Amino acid sequence: MDTLITDINIATMQGSTDYGALYDAAIGITDGSISWLGAAAACDESAAQSVIHGAGRWLTPGLIDCHTHLVYGGHRAQEFELKLQGESYEHIARNGGGIVSTVAATRKLNEQQLAAVSAPRLKRLLAEGVTTVEIKSGYGLNLEDELKMLRVARQFARDHEVNIRTTFLGAHALPVEYQRSEDYIDFLIDTVLPKVAEENLADAVDFFCESIGFSYEQCRRFALAALKLGLPVKGHVEQLSYLEGAKLVADLGGLSVDHLEYLPESDVTFLKQAGTVAVLLPGAFYCLAETQLPPVQKMLDLDLPIAIATDLNPGSSPIASLLTIMNLACTQFHLTPETVLRGVTCHAARALGMQDEVGQISVGLKADLVLWDIEVPAQLCYGMNLVQPQMVFKNGRLL
Ligand SMILES: [Zn+2]
Repeated sequence: MDTLITDINIATMQGSTDYGALYDAAIGITDGSISWLGAAAACDESAAQSVIHGAGRWLTPGLIDCHTHLVYGGHRAQEFELKLQGESYEHIARNGGGIVSTVAATRKLNEQQLAAVSAPRLKRLLAEGVTTVEIKSGYGLNLEDELKMLRVARQFARDHEVNIRTTFLGAHALPVEYQRSEDYIDFLIDTVLPKVAEENLADAVDFFCESIGFSYEQCRRFALAALKLGLPVKGHVEQLSYLEGAKLVADLGGLSVDHLEYLPESDVTFLKQAGTVAVLLPGAFYCLAETQLPPVQKMLDLDLPIAIATDLNPGSSPIASLLTIMNLACTQFHLTPETVLRGVTCHAARALGMQDEVGQISVGLKADLVLWDIEVPAQLCYGMNLVQPQMVFKNGRLL
């Protein structure tokens, strides 16, 4: 063994009860992976090159933020202030606000500049014990700038100690150059998607199925084109209204459906049958002061995997803290701390198709681990800004 961490409690997140906890336990790490798990009393300290004594602290899998838009230019603080001064959304949008302003600010930056303004947001997540992050494009909305966003996200995997999964979200909004969304979807399918696939810039695709985004039929066309190129599908669905987007993603065997406030209880069954993960985003719910709750109880009744993510973006969820979001998931969506911790570990891994690599503490998986100075796992969810990692291990290496 390269490293042995002993005298700890381990939230393995295996099984379905009590965080999969192992008490008074130890863990062995070899070549970046978890090679041994067992009782502290049963471990052989002389078999390890280095030994860390955890003094009864808790070890969890590295946290996973499975839905972010953290690569973007500019911010929307003026807009935030104008809204609070009573300006209408229509007025702000007519004056170039909303997503249009983020697209303009993102297009203006070259690749290096975009990386420089986005990296601090990634680092804030990593400082909280996040070791895997999904990053979407969707503020370029043309060939050159969508590719630029994805390249920046890919570069982050090389420059930082983190697993990055990139998602092509070309079908996020209609860019100002287009009058008809049909024409833009054609452009995405004929021109952008093939280039994204050819340069291996995305691990999945995503769309915004909504009256202010794209229709069911447009999203379906886009998703089928992506599947043909071997790219799995995710979707922003049923956030503001019900367009059957979740069912569409489930029918296509997609990885995850995200938001879901307007998902009817009857559609939860389709997700369960398809093995599609429900990704809940309490940050957007909170920032938009939404009142329509996703059908959480039905999801729990059917034992649907629920993931939780920041949705970090400049408009509806400017929150660069997965720990804060974990608290919001409890307080806004009435989820238990255990469900939430599963939502940022094993179920988040599934939402990214990474369940065989990360998300649990289990022999053979990557040693992406966080040691916390807490007495019970619920402390991770119970407050805001009360806890931080004591130690973070990425591929078995102490950061
Ligand atoms: Zn989103």
